[in-house]
Amino acid sequence: MGYETRKLSDEYEVAEVLGRGGFSVVRKGTRKSSTETKTHVAIKTLRRLGTASNSNNPFGFPRPKGGEKSTAAMMGFPTCRQVSVSDALLTNEILVMRRIVENVSPHPNVIDLYDVYEDSNGVHLVLELCSGGELFDRIVAQDRYSETEAACVIRQIASGLEAIHRANIVHRDLKPENCLFLDVRRDSPLKIMDFGLSSVEEFTDPVVGLFGSIDYVSPEALSQGKITTKSDMWSLGVILYILLSGYPPFIAESNRQKQQMIMNGNFSFYEKTWKGISHSAKQLISDLLTVDPSRRPSAQHLLSHPWVVGDKAKDDAMDPEIVSRLQSFNARRKLRAAAIASVWSTTIFLRTKKLKSLVGTHDLTEQEIENLRISFKKICVSGDNATLSEFEE
Ligand code: ATP
Repeated sequence: MGYETRKLSDEYEVAEVLGRGGFSVVRKGTRKSSTETKTHVAIKTLRRLGTASNSNNPFGFPRPKGGEKSTAAMMGFPTCRQVSVSDALLTNEILVMRRIVENVSPHPNVIDLYDVYEDSNGVHLVLELCSGGELFDRIVAQDRYSETEAACVIRQIASGLEAIHRANIVHRDLKPENCLFLDVRRDSPLKIMDFGLSSVEEFTDPVVGLFGSIDYVSPEALSQGKITTKSDMWSLGVILYILLSGYPPFIAESNRQKQQMIMNGNFSFYEKTWKGISHSAKQLISDLLTVDPSRRPSAQHLLSHPWVVGDKAKDDAMDPEIVSRLQSFNARRKLRAAAIASVWSTTIFLRTKKLKSLVGTHDLTEQEIENLRISFKKICVSGDNATLSEFEE
């Protein structure tokens, strides 16, 4: 069909696993050609769904009848084989990454995409390697932590958001684990990554707005309203609240109660924790956690905010209790993420299992079930509605 033959293994040594997501595995890669500068990369493999009769199809979903263009070709990268265009619907991330490559990259605070390959295992995104660890992991390991460091984090995330928002991209899943440091240097840039749930603003479908951990989800996403760049600003407000207190702004016994609190913007600054935090930081959090999205500051606005630029951020070491709370929050979060990732993979792999049985065996909340259901629906958007009904029964 005239497609160029390119194999990932011709150009990269693929090494150890760096991390796993619901539908992806990320490995370290080393470029074989020594003339290239970007020697070390991260290779994120998004599993491709094949035909039911295809032995390369681990999940057995019928393949969408489809378009003629391959996913990599859609991104403007030369391709090695023909894949249905519908596969691109399964990997929304690829479409968003294309937009990033065209409109944002290179940016110090947004992950860069270098290349795309595809083969029977799936689509491989060759990404900038971030070897500096996750945001909270580094903060809790620091010997000294003050508002100044927190402001530096917020400044970098705001800078990345400003760039993607300018390209009309809404991240929609902004959370600390999606912010990685580029390297281990103390002044390493922080990168926003994982655009798997992102969307191009003008195409936002409110039905798929319920993705993401509920802790960071905006009121409009919970109420299936219009999701805009301001929804990311809410998530940033939640991250800032946690950075300065060690716990999330909305805590409740059940997810339903938590949802209600989020939708009402019902949070407070407990005197005991917050008495040492500057007024400017608290005001900024209140502005970001405003229920009406139009009244939330934009990322661009934040870049000149006196606390964010560092003028009003206190430089005194933070109360050690805040850091230790952040440590346990981070540990709990990691445990939970690992559990959910494993449930997620199992769910997809054992597609005949009913959602309801997961509630009993894995103690998923209703919201998590709903997220799984919607995510599953998105995967099945290529036309496999029968599979979805089977899953929903
Ligand atoms: P999720 O199911 O959480 O949405 P995902 O399938 O979108 O996950 P990512 O979150 O992008 O996958 O990646 C999974 C893990 O792989 C990350 O938590 C991180 O540890 C690691 N990882 C991803 N991209 C990189 C990178 N560019 N450099 C280093 N590690 C990475």
